[in-house]
Parts: sequence; structure tokens; C-alpha cells
Amino acid sequence: MAIDATQPYDDDNIFGKILRGEIPSTKVYEDEWAYAFEDINPQAKIHTLVIPRGRYVSWDDFSAHASAEEIAGFVRAVGKIARENGLVEPGYRLLANVGPHGGQEVPHLHVHIFGGEPLGRMIAK
Ligand code: 5GP
Repeated sequence: MAIDATQPYDDDNIFGKILRGEIPSTKVYEDEWAYAFEDINPQAKIHTLVIPRGRYVSWDDFSAHASAEEIAGFVRAVGKIARENGLVEPGYRLLANVGPHGGQEVPHLHVHIFGGEPLGRMIAK
């Protein structure tokens, strides 16, 4: 079910648990600012989720409240993951769902990286 992206951060959310190592994930990358892992239900040949280490519910929360250092670190991590996985030349897609209309289901900010094949239209209708 889609979440309200303005709700307070809930430490029990599934990505918070993944970040703390309380439930397993297939790690793709980690650094001081970000943790990346494979989506459990991939929508493309490559489907990676990148989450900040900080406690942010959504892109809205992150862009409004994260420090410049956190934002820079996270954005650089997303770019680095795509680069290191050879996605830049064929191309890839980034997606951050926010709130009910965005279809956000997990209340810890995550950016989806899709790639590894042509991705078709931007939004399926
Ligand atoms: P959203 O709709 O919130 O942008 O995307 C949530 C994503 O998280 C979905 O693509 C879903 O497949 C993925 N997901 C949900 N639960 C888990 C989990 O426990 N492990 C992993 N690796 N991915 C998950």
C-alpha cells in the first residue's frame, strides 16, 4: 500500500531493517552515505535500490532536511553505482516514488536504478 510521504520516520520500516542488517539483502554497494541492494521483485534486468544511511521517509523529506554533505554523498553514490555497473553508455533510468500518487510503498527514501536492457516508455498507462 502506498504511504503518506509526510509521516514521521518509522524505524521499523523494512529498508531501515535492511540498513541495520536485521534482514538480509543482496548488497550491490555501500559507502558512508548510501547502501544499495537488489530489488526483491526486479522490474528490469538490473533493478537496484539505493537508500541513504540517514533516516529520511521520502525524497521530499531528504531534499528538505538532509545536510548538503548527505545530499552530495547520496547523489554521488547513485551515479557511481550506475557507472561501476556499466550502465552509463547504454543508458539507465532513475526513479524515486513519493507518496500515494507516486506509489511509494516503503517509507525510507529509495532511488530505483533500472538498466541492462531498453526500458521503453517513461510511464506505462
Ligand atoms: P516503492 O514502490 O516504494 O518505490 O518501491 C519499493 C520497492 O521495494 C519495490 O520495488 C519492492 O519490490 C522492493 N522491496 C520491498 N520489500 C523488499 C525487501 O524486503 N527486500 C528487497 N530487496 N526489496 C524489497
